[in-house]
Amino acid sequence: MKKAFFFLLFLFGLLAGLSSSSSTPVGIELPKTPGPAAGYPLLRIDVFYEPENKVISMDLEDYVKHVVASEMPASFHPEALKAQAVIARTYALRKMQIFGGTPSLPGKADVTSNPAKDQAWNPEHVLKERWGVIGWWLNWPKIEKAVRETQGMILTYKGLPAESVYHSTCGGTTEAARDVWGKDIDYLQSVTCNYCVSSPHYKPTQVVLSSTQISNSMGTLGISVPASRVSQKGVIAVTSLSPTGRVKQISVDGKTVRGLEFRSALNLKSTKFTWSVQGDNVVFQVAGYGHAVGLCQYGADGAARAGMDFLEILAHYYPGTQVAHIFEE
Ligand SMILES: [Zn+2]
Repeated sequence: MKKAFFFLLFLFGLLAGLSSSSSTPVGIELPKTPGPAAGYPLLRIDVFYEPENKVISMDLEDYVKHVVASEMPASFHPEALKAQAVIARTYALRKMQIFGGTPSLPGKADVTSNPAKDQAWNPEHVLKERWGVIGWWLNWPKIEKAVRETQGMILTYKGLPAESVYHSTCGGTTEAARDVWGKDIDYLQSVTCNYCVSSPHYKPTQVVLSSTQISNSMGTLGISVPASRVSQKGVIAVTSLSPTGRVKQISVDGKTVRGLEFRSALNLKSTKFTWSVQGDNVVFQVAGYGHAVGLCQYGADGAARAGMDFLEILAHYYPGTQVAHIFEE
């Protein structure tokens, strides 16, 4: 067999990584424009497709195509689509049981199609409904090309698949993982992003919520605050801001919650927000979209249009990582 299974090295690496933080890098430097490999080995991934409550088994590369199509506008630059393909593949790999992922889904699937829990995955008929026939005809070849040109490539750190988290729009600076999830990760630090200014989510947008809505939402976090108190001065107060100006912790009627939870409860697009009380309403100004950790998708598109290729884009948003191949060449 010409191609040895590289994932055995990964399994070894994962075990080694559990006991040591100084595992030897096994990533392979790749040429800048690798072509599709003939006879490329298949890797099966089981996807729990929630709308139909069933598990669909498919090749990893096919899965990645549908994730890229679902997670990033097909109008984005080809190099941004390629960066997305690499991180979508990496994310999936970490979840796959063959690589040590823990089965926790119905039918022991590796991943779910639900974007609230894993990456968004949509089947062909849904993408066709979304794009229309002409849109499918125009978009699908672009997606296929981006995945084919990055076939088998994953993002690694010290020889292991990296936590390739991503988001829509950072708004100028990405966020360190420790300031969002309390976990410090070497390659998930805050980096400047000068590339997402054309995102529709870059400039702050206004969200108006009534005191009653906020009171009800806080109830879902186990915080009982009467609507009549919500608009009173000091009842909602930021207690900790991250270095990039995002809300890390916020106090609601004396009880402290993480910015992430507060954002989620109120369905705000990010934790980069300010607010003012106007009568019985609270008016939020929210900038960016997503947790802001890792790759900024609109930033990747802007960076690609500024001339960066997908390897440079990945190196910018995940400093210290390498792109490697699942399979040994
Ligand atoms: Zn950005």
